[in-house]
Amino acid sequence: MKVIEPRERGKGMETLLRELFKAQRQYFDKGNSKKLLFRIRSLRALKKSVQRKEKEIIQALEKDLSKPDFESFSAELAMFYEEVNYAIDKVRAWSRREKKKTLLVLEPAKSWIQPEPKGVVLIVGPWNYPFQLVMVPLVGAIAAGNCAMIKPSDKTHNTSDVITAIIQETFDPEYITSIQGPGSEVGNTLVERFSFDHIFFTGSTETGKKIMAKAAAHLTPVTLELGGKSPAIVMDDAKLNVTARRIAWGKFMNAGQTCIAPDYVLVHEAVKEKLIDELSCVIGDFYGKDPLQSKDYGRIVNQQRFDKLLSFLKEGNVRRGGNYDREKLFIAPTIMDEISLENRVMKEEIFGPILPVLSFQNSDDVISIVRKNRNPLALYLFTENKKNEGLIFNQLEFGGGCINNCIIHVASQHLPFGGVKTSGMGRYHGKDSFDTFSNYKSVVRSATSIDPSIKYPPYDRKNIQLLKKLL
Ligand code: NAD
Repeated sequence: MKVIEPRERGKGMETLLRELFKAQRQYFDKGNSKKLLFRIRSLRALKKSVQRKEKEIIQALEKDLSKPDFESFSAELAMFYEEVNYAIDKVRAWSRREKKKTLLVLEPAKSWIQPEPKGVVLIVGPWNYPFQLVMVPLVGAIAAGNCAMIKPSDKTHNTSDVITAIIQETFDPEYITSIQGPGSEVGNTLVERFSFDHIFFTGSTETGKKIMAKAAAHLTPVTLELGGKSPAIVMDDAKLNVTARRIAWGKFMNAGQTCIAPDYVLVHEAVKEKLIDELSCVIGDFYGKDPLQSKDYGRIVNQQRFDKLLSFLKEGNVRRGGNYDREKLFIAPTIMDEISLENRVMKEEIFGPILPVLSFQNSDDVISIVRKNRNPLALYLFTENKKNEGLIFNQLEFGGGCINNCIIHVASQHLPFGGVKTSGMGRYHGKDSFDTFSNYKSVVRSATSIDPSIKYPPYDRKNIQLLKKLL
């Protein structure tokens, strides 16, 4: 499975998906996917298939997003390899039951929790990191012993085609399958009509709301990895040269189309001009005088997104960049200032290479500006003073972040990744991916050699005192 052809859309598509879903359910019920060795072999097979197709993946990302090969390797393939290697190494340990204490009143008995796969799960991915954002969660789903359907983005079809080919070559469709189709139709049908045991969704907050509402009808649990406006906050004591490099790297990688890219900068008014100068120099160092010629700078995914980004350019004063080429889907790395909090560029997720720079006077300003777009996915604080961590970092609600850096918290298998409320719910990467796709069963095994009658009717009220003592 399967690219949904136009003739299969509508009722035809639903019938096809229903057959597939039924087959996956039956496959899961047979229990093969749960076996530990089977999971390890599947993870190894997936890794091998990806290795074999590395070139095609990089070429497809180039076609879809003009993604520089370095970024395709570091931010797509390496993320997958790290995750799959870690899972292969740890899945045995993760799958073991964990002994727990038994309450005195429940003795004689043994207690434990044991992870079990949830069942048949759905993974829906976006277009900005179209490979890793379906393949990394898939590692978790396989490690935990599930059957999975993945639905890669419809907007980056070259990459989605390679993903589907990898999955077809590696797995029986009853076990793992990749389904592609135009627009939101396939994703919508899957979420609305089928009772998955878990839905793992990465995409926009708006679609996240729809998915959660539809999943609720089946009581299907969801993990939502969504968007938001992630600020980079620069204090007056920050080391501005290194701050500018790290912000520019995080913002302009993948032409700003990164969910945890710094969306805007809040800088102390005393250092605003110096920071803008530094950012401007760094952009020149990274992408040269004419970023259109740079091999290391990506493009906007499509004209619809391009036009939306252009409309933001009108909302402030362009300090650097601002030039564009619609045919080539190119927008230069752009810095803007003189922006009001009421502008759309400060109310909507930018998701492109436009960096508004706003100034503040004190930490109260920072808190109130960030809370205008509450619950960002990430937050970055640049300071040399740990006191500022307490004043800002620890006061605000956000999914995760860095002090004196950008983006890098997403790269670690040891740090659970996810958002908060409007930027998402649930966590993954490393053990957290395994947990996301597992149901932890709590079990008590009682001995039958003795069976104290204290809990059975007819109740002896005197035993209440004894119970109180035992508790
Ligand atoms: P999107 O919400 O438009 O689409 C995401 C996926 O959902 C696509 O595969 C799409 O076909 C599918 N879809 C669309 N409507 C659907 C529906 N009604 N039912 C089921 N499936 C549906 O998002 P996008 O434009 O592809 O991605 C950009 C957004 O994703 C940004 O907001 C970005 O911040 C966010 N994002 C978040 C993370 C994260 O890890 N939190 C990572 C990358 C992107």
